[in-house]
Amino acid sequence: MVAPTPVAASSFPIASDARLAGDAKQTRFVLDLDKPVQFRAFALADPYRVILDLPQVSFRLAADIGSAGRGLVKSFRYGLVMPGGSRIVFDLTGPAKVAKSYVLEAANGQPARLVLELEEVDRTSFVQSLAPANRPELRPAIADANANAAAAPATVRPAPPPDTRPVIVIDPGHGGVDNGTQAAGEIMEKNLVLGFGLALRDRIEKSGRYRVVMTRTDDTFIPLGERVRIARSHSAALFVSIHADALPSNEGNARGATIYTLSEKASDAEAERLADAENKSDAIGGVSLADEPTEVADILIDLAQRETRTFSNRFARVLMGEMKNTVRMHKHPLKSARFRVLKAPDVPSVLVELGYVSNKGDLEHLVSENWRNRTVGSMALAIDAFFAKRPATTAPTK
Ligand SMILES: [Zn+2]
Repeated sequence: MVAPTPVAASSFPIASDARLAGDAKQTRFVLDLDKPVQFRAFALADPYRVILDLPQVSFRLAADIGSAGRGLVKSFRYGLVMPGGSRIVFDLTGPAKVAKSYVLEAANGQPARLVLELEEVDRTSFVQSLAPANRPELRPAIADANANAAAAPATVRPAPPPDTRPVIVIDPGHGGVDNGTQAAGEIMEKNLVLGFGLALRDRIEKSGRYRVVMTRTDDTFIPLGERVRIARSHSAALFVSIHADALPSNEGNARGATIYTLSEKASDAEAERLADAENKSDAIGGVSLADEPTEVADILIDLAQRETRTFSNRFARVLMGEMKNTVRMHKHPLKSARFRVLKAPDVPSVLVELGYVSNKGDLEHLVSENWRNRTVGSMALAIDAFFAKRPATTAPTK
């Protein structure tokens, strides 16, 4: 992925406060800004949400500001959704429409304000109001950003020799508006797994044997389908998604790392619960699931996927063999379930839960640089072992 051009944080509009008012029939959201901004607001169904897309904004809001809802708004969250774009996602208590939305200039000692007025509607009129023109356009926007960056060099250079090294895609889970699981002291999964993913990239790039592609290198939301597309478009030889799990306190105190592969039927109830939780990422980030193409799901039953599945399972076993030497593993360290992010039919894919942020011992590991170095080292050994045993001719081809 192309890194966004760094822009001084101070040049972004600053959101300094946000508040909700009203009741279950009409609810108003107000965002205080240091200058007026352009915006776009639209509703999504299943679950009911309202999405507010803004240019990139520096949010300087109280940490728990979105957790307490009011009226039609159950809760809201915010974050970067792509380079140059921020998003606020409102979870609704039921169907509602954006009755009015406007920006007020600063006046009478009040800052500039963005106002959304939501009104309760019935399900039928809600569904009718979901015009296709109002759908999110994440994918084209990301493509444009990459195209612009790629077009930047003005001089024509001779094409470099083709890079035939295997491509490894590292996928730090969550990001931006989707925080993932959360531990005490505001430690968020999205930050833990990004730090881990970048350290893993640095380690495996050192050998020069692989080309590494990250699905994200900063705090940006990436839809699950986009992560799969990144792997497929690079004809990746391996896809490794990095996560850190949490258990509700009434469900015991599981600990240790777990390696997941894709299967139609979950290997156990915990794997099923986790896949459901991870698959919610798109809903959390404000993606309309109705827009996701079904192509990949249909190919799932294709024979072509069998080979990929064999490779995924083989890598999972090799990885467990290496990791168990250095890392505390879950008592059942190999599991499988329907993870949407593992559905590339032609890319061997695994999802690693590094540990449980809900477990005190695991959390101490997860934030320890020493632990991270050891774990990254054992994953790099597993990758070497996997590719050493694998004839080059079986690399996925397009
Ligand atoms: Zn996760």
